[in-house]
Amino acid sequence: MIKSENSLVEEALFLCDKIATFSAKRNSIERFCLSPQMADVHQYLTDYFVDSLEAENDRVGNILFVPKKIQGENKTPKRKILIGSHLDTVSNAGRYDGILGVVIGLLCAREYTNNDIQFDAVGFADEEGGRFGCRFLGSLNFIGQLPADYLPQQDTKGISLEQALLTDVREDFSDYFTSDNDVKNTFIELHIEQGLNLHQADKSLGIVKQICGQAVVSLIFKGKTAHAVSKLPRKDALLSACEFVSQVQKFRKYAPDLHLTVGAIENFPNQSNVVSSQTVVRVDVRHIEDKIRAEVIEKMIALARETCSSLSTELAYDISEQKTVFMDGSMTKELKDLCHSETISHQMMTSYAGHDALIMSSKISTGFLFLRDDKGISHHPEESVDKQAIGDAFQVLSELVNNC
Ligand SMILES: [Zn+2]
Repeated sequence: MIKSENSLVEEALFLCDKIATFSAKRNSIERFCLSPQMADVHQYLTDYFVDSLEAENDRVGNILFVPKKIQGENKTPKRKILIGSHLDTVSNAGRYDGILGVVIGLLCAREYTNNDIQFDAVGFADEEGGRFGCRFLGSLNFIGQLPADYLPQQDTKGISLEQALLTDVREDFSDYFTSDNDVKNTFIELHIEQGLNLHQADKSLGIVKQICGQAVVSLIFKGKTAHAVSKLPRKDALLSACEFVSQVQKFRKYAPDLHLTVGAIENFPNQSNVVSSQTVVRVDVRHIEDKIRAEVIEKMIALARETCSSLSTELAYDISEQKTVFMDGSMTKELKDLCHSETISHQMMTSYAGHDALIMSSKISTGFLFLRDDKGISHHPEESVDKQAIGDAFQVLSELVNNC
């Protein structure tokens, strides 16, 4: 018998609370990929769903759950829907970011799988990049596209990703997408909203149409070290960087919905009595239109150049960029139609943060649902989620069964 949505909501919240106890820190939540705490979560979930789901790991510690075959039934489903998100956290995290999507996927796999439709669940090993600084490590490996330059990256103890990889498990899950051409494959990510848009609009679910493109521009201001009392002409990298930072915010007005943040500065040698030789400023630039983002970056670099030439310093820069990615239009429409027919309050949305759906959409028809979070807080112990939104998500996903 399929459990009622209310009891599934309670079970989902119970599982999130339970998973939160697997932490590297005594008084807060911190769980990185390939850690003992992540292995404990895998074991706990494998045991919890032992009657209905089978689990398998890949080398980076992604975990895929598929329904156990009912004896005597070997029919190939018409449709496979993979639901999930990530199981890793940032430091001092909340209990829902990523985790809730995995838990909902597991409960759908257990409750809604039938002869025509198979729900699988995935817990990605690392979306946040907390241990090796490599974002989307889990989903990239899942699709068989782990960049080779991720492998030598080290954690704070000097252990490289390559050294930490699990052994005696499959390399990745790239064959998940090619198993049977007659089966319609879909991935759906579910995630708390990380903002107040749904709360303010009094809507339950957000159907994400696109994940906004994002660039990190590293501007390297180069000067020359000198003693604080030196009378030689100054080539002060830190002063150049500060001049730039004080002016760069004017570009925020360049276009509506442009997000521009100077979030990191590294200074060398960073001593109070030494003129700085190098200062690196990292600027995060987000806008849906790739063209606008490129224009803003060009203007920022021109401003940095002008600043350097007026202060006798030099500039180098590096840009790492992710273009705007659209979710599959047919999947987006299907989710929207289901919200309409079930009279679930919803709105179309853009995600301004990166998510595993961004990576998965390069390989598989992908849909993405945000769940209302009335506090609008994420990556923090005060994270919350609306129970009604979880229930509505279960309702939408259960209705996919009728669309086969
Ligand atoms: Zn997340």
